[in-house]
Amino acid sequence: MLRSRFLWQLVGALGAILLVSTLVFGSLATTQIQTDARNTIRESLRTQAAILRQLLLPSLLQEVPISREALEQTTGGANNRITLIDAKGLVLADNREAPEAMDNHLTRPEVVQAMATGFGSSERYSHTVNQNLFYVALRVDGDEGKVLGFVRVAVPLESVERQLAALRNQILLSGTIIAAIFLVVGFLLARQFTIPITRMTEGASRISRGDYDFRLPEGRSDEIGQLAVALNELARGTQERIKALTSSRNQLAAILSGLTEGVIAVDLDQTILHINDSARAMLHLSQREIVNRQLGDVVRVEEIVQAVDTCLAELITTNSTVKVDAKTLDVSVVLLRNQDWTSAAGAIVVLQDITEMLRLEQVRSDFVANASHELKTPISAIRGFVETILDDANMPEEVLQRFIKRIRSQSARLDQIVKDLIHLSRFDTHAREMSVSQIDLAFLIRKVHADKSEDAIDAGVMLELDIIDKEVEVAGEQEALYQMLSNLVDNAIKYTQADGVVRVRLRTLSRMAVIEVEDTGIGIAEDEQQRIFERFYRVDRARSREQGGTGLGLSIVKHIAQSHRGSVMVTSQVNKGSVFTVRLPLSS
Ligand code: ADP
Repeated sequence: MLRSRFLWQLVGALGAILLVSTLVFGSLATTQIQTDARNTIRESLRTQAAILRQLLLPSLLQEVPISREALEQTTGGANNRITLIDAKGLVLADNREAPEAMDNHLTRPEVVQAMATGFGSSERYSHTVNQNLFYVALRVDGDEGKVLGFVRVAVPLESVERQLAALRNQILLSGTIIAAIFLVVGFLLARQFTIPITRMTEGASRISRGDYDFRLPEGRSDEIGQLAVALNELARGTQERIKALTSSRNQLAAILSGLTEGVIAVDLDQTILHINDSARAMLHLSQREIVNRQLGDVVRVEEIVQAVDTCLAELITTNSTVKVDAKTLDVSVVLLRNQDWTSAAGAIVVLQDITEMLRLEQVRSDFVANASHELKTPISAIRGFVETILDDANMPEEVLQRFIKRIRSQSARLDQIVKDLIHLSRFDTHAREMSVSQIDLAFLIRKVHADKSEDAIDAGVMLELDIIDKEVEVAGEQEALYQMLSNLVDNAIKYTQADGVVRVRLRTLSRMAVIEVEDTGIGIAEDEQQRIFERFYRVDRARSREQGGTGLGLSIVKHIAQSHRGSVMVTSQVNKGSVFTVRLPLSS
């Protein structure tokens, strides 16, 4: 509090005023008192002189010197110095000095004045008595205005001056005491004002430093109270605005970080203002400090930096496709406008990972090409047979029969492909709502086993069941799950040579139903193992076709497993056999 400059300014100003006023008042009062004292002395000496004039008139008329004793006698032993001077300035009598030793007094100022006006006074050092004296002289007039002489009375100024000095000291002392009292009171009063002002200043600076929770004490009804209310309002308003800004900024940041698209905002100098998590991931930017760095220093993909250059230089939106490692990114760079939308403030880079989209597009077009090809083969064959039959009216009966059988087998194949395609589209993960029920997997597997046992016998393969856990229920579609198991068992029988074994096993493992279809067949090479789930993919096209395969069976299995929130995988060794494992979540 005592460090308040304002307080010391107030106290300083007050002190200066008090000092000046004490000095002015003291000197005025002293001067006035001095003047009054002199007037009083002058008047009293004048009265004395008037009395003495009466007493000494006879001596003047006689114009003879009077001895000191005679004068003492006449004046009754007065304290003051009394001098009687004749009209020519000759000292006739003096109660302090012998008249003969004294020079002519006609030139003394008081005498000169008295000669002119009848009365004179003066203040000076007397060499006769060696003192500062205050003199008055009164002219003594005789008959017909004749000047007879002068009565002069003098008093030493020493005592008067002593009294005046004492008075001056008293004035000075009391002035100082009063000034000190005023100063203390003034200090206390000033503090009364400066304490709240200092508090206000501290509060305002805390608020300006960002401490918006701080509130100044309110309650005073004066201007200081109003100032506190206004400052509190300011803090409250700022706090609310900052809260609103922060929340909208956080919202924006959350939206940006939630986007699957990568977003980078840069200013006109290509300094990064914002980068979201997706953009970091797409561009493999793991370092933490990216904001406020140059785009070119951080992003090493030349095409992106160039696209930003072009956008900012030509003020246009650019679109391009960029390869970053194995990924393909669609890069759009749009201008970032300033607030009033009049000029560019920077650019926003929007990155979209289109790798998966491109892959799906490829899969789709491959599928269409494959499907057309697969359908075209039996159709061409049928057409060829039919045309041959039509062209050759004399075709021998046995050849005709063989052709007709080939037409039948090709149309059966066509039928199988179309059925599989229909299945595939039905079991496509997102294609439709499933009609779900509780499925007893042990029961379903037994049914598949029973239905496929004849095929197994035909192929000379042993089809075995191994139901480890009996009560295994999953939520799903009976028809779809049957189709899935049937496809796996079909494949196992198809790709296993005679005397081989196919085993279907059911068990549970950590809240999952696990179905394994294991065979001792031809096996699948490592690099083929993931591809066999693709549509129309076959390891050995001719063999598959010979076996009546369409290349769609495993992709149907994959779709069904996935649509039941499960998975399928394969482990296999060429010429040893394969194990297809399907995992489905148990119904709780
Ligand atoms: P396909 O109709 O040709 O059997 P799938 O989609 O069912 O079509 O299987 C794709 C390919 O995976 C098959 O062509 C075959 O090469 C291979 N395959 C599937 N199951 C087995 C298995 N149990 N043993 C060996 N290879 C298999």
